Amino acid sequence: MRLFVASVATETNTFSPIPTSLENFREGLFARPGEHPEQATLCTAPLVVARRRAKAEGWTLIEGSCFWAEPAGTVSRQAYETMRDEILGQLKAALPLDGVLMGLHGAMVADGYDDCEGDLLTRVRALVGPKVPIGVEHDPHSHLTRARLAASDFIISFKEFPHTDFVDRAEEVVELTLRMIRGEIKPVKSVFDCRMIGSFPTTLQPMRGFVDRIKSLEGKNGVLSISVTHCFPYADVPELGAKILVVTDNRKDYGDRLATELGMELWGMRGRTTPEFLTPDQAIDQGLALNEGPAVIADPSDNAGGGAPSDSTQILRRLIERKVEGAALAPLWDPMAVRFCFDAGEGGRFKLRFGGKTAPSSGQPIDAEVIVTKLVREATQNFGAATVPLGDSAAIRIGGVEVVLISKRTQALGRDLFTNLGIDPEQRRIIVVKSTNHFHAAFGPIARKVLYVDSGSSIPRDHRQVPYTRIQRPIWPLDENARPHLV
Ligand SMILES: [Zn+2]
Repeated sequence: MRLFVASVATETNTFSPIPTSLENFREGLFARPGEHPEQATLCTAPLVVARRRAKAEGWTLIEGSCFWAEPAGTVSRQAYETMRDEILGQLKAALPLDGVLMGLHGAMVADGYDDCEGDLLTRVRALVGPKVPIGVEHDPHSHLTRARLAASDFIISFKEFPHTDFVDRAEEVVELTLRMIRGEIKPVKSVFDCRMIGSFPTTLQPMRGFVDRIKSLEGKNGVLSISVTHCFPYADVPELGAKILVVTDNRKDYGDRLATELGMELWGMRGRTTPEFLTPDQAIDQGLALNEGPAVIADPSDNAGGGAPSDSTQILRRLIERKVEGAALAPLWDPMAVRFCFDAGEGGRFKLRFGGKTAPSSGQPIDAEVIVTKLVREATQNFGAATVPLGDSAAIRIGGVEVVLISKRTQALGRDLFTNLGIDPEQRRIIVVKSTNHFHAAFGPIARKVLYVDSGSSIPRDHRQVPYTRIQRPIWPLDENARPHLV
């Protein structure tokens, strides 16, 4: 038995001012066959799981390339086609195959390609033929397009946001593909289009209960898998929107009924799945009002994980202007400022201009006399089983405010983002993290209170402010006449 696995993944914010090149994938993950480490990353878990099972069960896994780039703007055509054609070439050389496994984020857009995953899977299908099972893992922040549904046998998305379950879902992708190869199951897809754009952190009700209920429905009545596509709101592509995908063992009618029931339930939650968003000053006030820290203030509007620059200064400026004591913010992406800090050295005190560089939404740079408190070459942070590089990083202090400056753009994920730079977040009154909800896995447990801010940076929390021109309408909350329906 021979299976092929590969991965190409990024989350494209078509409104982001930062272009995505092949170089950005080289700086992210660029693992050629056999080069992938034993540790799974968010979108390469199918490879790691399949590698382990192939070894244990005595079948052959042919490893293709794995590519991942930190979310940013549209991928260049040359970069996408290079990676795609490399994977297709490896696949062609590996034929004949019994199955294909793909780790795809599911929200990649390239010049000339609104639906990279649909394009890739269609070409994979053409090479392997109609009978070879193709199992796909997706991030829920993806576009569940017709092309990728038609080309694959099934897609399984992470259920949790923060995505703490990427390895668990990969186990299911591999298991279902193997069962399909053995002729034990016949996956059939039912899709419900909720006609809505939203954000759905699973740390909050009612979404928490919804995901728990979905889990309890799997493995019964022929239900193989249920996925909620949250949608990725910051892409101007026609098939954007929240969807429910139910995969049954050849029980199409039941799957359609269940997808409709769950889709209408999600539709009924619209407007109630996100936290309250405060202004920077409101959040600082609430944080300072607590007797004990830390208050964790999240700024999703500058989340690098959603393609934002992560160099906005709106909250930081207020912390400095208000002379807040015991506050720390991370990460702030500014490679040039990091370089200056290394030149100044640990303990160095100098006038630094930092942040506010990438776009108007980043605000103005901060000019301040800073003290360099810690320098780390090739710093990292952890997110579940994954180690995420920060590049050369510097901790600086301005009065009572500390900032972690990083060179490789990424969002706040682990507490070691602070501790590796000499800052103990548990000992601070206010911790500001640039992240939508992934921060919650590590920072939720130490937070006296979690507060969410819309600082007005590049990813608006009110989706009616996103300047879409190409998405299919009507869709909530842009249109009151949106009507959810079975696909
Ligand atoms: Zn995601």
